[in-house]
Amino acid sequence: ESVPVITLDGPGGAGKGTISRLIAERLGWHLLDSGALYRLTALAALRHEAALDDADALAELARHLDVAFLAEEGATRVLLEGDDVSREIRTERTGDAASQVAVVPAVREALLQRQRDFRKPPGLVADGRDMGTVVFPEAPLKVFLTASAEERARRRYLQLQEAGVDASLSSLLKEIQARDARDMQRSVAPLKPADDAITLDTTRLTIPEVVDRLTEWLTERG
Ligand code: C5P
Repeated sequence: ESVPVITLDGPGGAGKGTISRLIAERLGWHLLDSGALYRLTALAALRHEAALDDADALAELARHLDVAFLAEEGATRVLLEGDDVSREIRTERTGDAASQVAVVPAVREALLQRQRDFRKPPGLVADGRDMGTVVFPEAPLKVFLTASAEERARRRYLQLQEAGVDASLSSLLKEIQARDARDMQRSVAPLKPADDAITLDTTRLTIPEVVDRLTEWLTERG
């Protein structure tokens, strides 16, 4: 396929979401937030009272997910079965449930084609854990974004404060470490850089610095 893809993988809180959106805007490319599909599957499970370890039920929900992504200025509105769940999919509870449904191989399989369908001209920026390793293994530019767990907890803390949500830095750090462990240790599509990915540690970089560096790499690779 000739439609170019940039993959951005890495642990939660490394800034992938914001950076992917900015790069997609700058290039005028499409954006795939693959984590949202796992979050939506988890929400569908909660709604339909499927247990988070019932592989068959979860796969069935993933196969028939009724979702819509509506691009709006600076954000995307997300609908599940017609209801606006834009806020609900971002909670820690949903993120945690998402990382549980994400260990189910049949769920990952069910979401594979749905993710590949986002690849449309003029190009795609794909954000996730296994974009470069599993979903788009032939992508010409693969980036693995990291940051220390402490820095990721600090960023999340500031985000929550800004949103007026009470949180504790130490419990955020614990949650981040637990989610990292689950994402890295699962047997299917574990979180790890593709062999041909470029790793960028963003611990000491600002968002514009990261966006500039990635845009440079893209230009270098044609
Ligand atoms: O990136 P985000 O925090 O929205 O992802 C939520 C969870 O979904 C992750 O912790 C991970 O377990 C799972 N996920 C995944 N593969 C992806 C994207 C997300 O397993 N490509």
